[in-house]
Amino acid sequence: MSVRVRFAPSPTGMLHVGNARTALITWLFARKHGGHFLLRIDDTDRERSKTEYETAIEDSLVWMGLGWDEKINQQHRLERYAERIEQLKADGRLYACYETPDELALKRKTQLSRGKPPIYDRAALELTDPQKAAYEAEGRAPHWRFKLEHTPIEWEDLIRGPVKFNGADLSDPVVIREDGSPLYHLCSVIDDADFRITHVVRGEDHVSNTAAHVQMFEALGATPPEFVHLPLISDSEGGKLSKRLGSLSIKDIRDTDGLEPMAVVSLLARLGTADPIEAYAEIEPLVESFDFSKFGRGTPKFDSAELLRLNAKIIHDTPFDDVTVRLAGLGLEDLDEPFWTTVRANLERLSDIKDWWHVANGPVEPLIDDPDFIAQAAALLPETPWTVNTWSEWAGAVKAQTGRKGKELFMPLRRALTGMDHGPELGDLLLLIGPDKARRRLQGQREAA
Ligand code: GLU
Repeated sequence: MSVRVRFAPSPTGMLHVGNARTALITWLFARKHGGHFLLRIDDTDRERSKTEYETAIEDSLVWMGLGWDEKINQQHRLERYAERIEQLKADGRLYACYETPDELALKRKTQLSRGKPPIYDRAALELTDPQKAAYEAEGRAPHWRFKLEHTPIEWEDLIRGPVKFNGADLSDPVVIREDGSPLYHLCSVIDDADFRITHVVRGEDHVSNTAAHVQMFEALGATPPEFVHLPLISDSEGGKLSKRLGSLSIKDIRDTDGLEPMAVVSLLARLGTADPIEAYAEIEPLVESFDFSKFGRGTPKFDSAELLRLNAKIIHDTPFDDVTVRLAGLGLEDLDEPFWTTVRANLERLSDIKDWWHVANGPVEPLIDDPDFIAQAAALLPETPWTVNTWSEWAGAVKAQTGRKGKELFMPLRRALTGMDHGPELGDLLLLIGPDKARRRLQGQREAA
């Protein structure tokens, strides 16, 4: 059996981190097994679905490196749904209901106040034809429910293990709206059957939906696929990313936070698994190591500090050629390979490079605590042209004249030359700063902005 999976976002908002994780895990599983990855746009809700969101979701997937083998939009399949719906009606598996949302809410409230679960009472099944006609005459249009069989429903979930429900404990799901449009449950099952999906991978918030879906597959004469319900991820305290996780989108991570796609992929692929979370520059090792059996059932914490750590690690190992285009987009002149190699180990995000560019090009406000020492050092600055040996020549001369060494020697020089207490190797920075600016900074001159 060859693996066929789908990722089925609703284009009613941006792709957020939780859904991106589902997409990634589904994709990794498909690639691991040489399978087929279908992108299914769940856009039957015409009011809330927007093409801008559809495009944005696709952009986010592409940014993460998750290409698809095939794409469908549910709104192009309405005729097919209508066909299957006719069949289910003829088989007596769908029934018309006339309750208004308020009436249903009241029923639920009454059940709850009596300590009963708020399961639909199937009152509509008792309606006679004249009663239905009376409702219609009143201007009420029916919505339709799928009639569950009150039998045990069981499946072997690839993460949760054996799952058991009883049809009697579930509400018959509404599958057609009053306006006649088909709803998620039925469309999803019809598609999963038609596209011969072998594994449905989704968040554990869908577990009880799956119980109903199992019976829908059977009612449609299809064998239910395997099901995999991923534990949802949660926020961790102390994260630096501004938004709460539920609304944190891949677009935010990309555009606002300026993070690398492989940092996001490295984190989301391993979160909640037995494998260590490590920075990967390529997706292949994550495909290789992927296995549902490595997923735990606990709620993994999404830690944005960890995401930043992975991001930094990935940047530190990125060759210049891989970032030239994006660096050009930052509009910083003379940002060449030696510059990149010198500063990359000090970047958390790519855009941090602007800070080091300013250290090299100014304006920098020199920090001079011991003017005598700095004046002596300035007088010992080697002749031009400067080479890779300039720093050691200079440091050697300053040491010989002042008797200072180690931190005592280089920290005051770093503070005077860069206005900072930390940064890339001072010798490398010195070459990026160059003789003129170095001399002026050692003289304590402020640079014009
Ligand atoms: N459009 C549904 C959602 O985003 C799809 C769920 C599923 O994978 O079946 O929740």
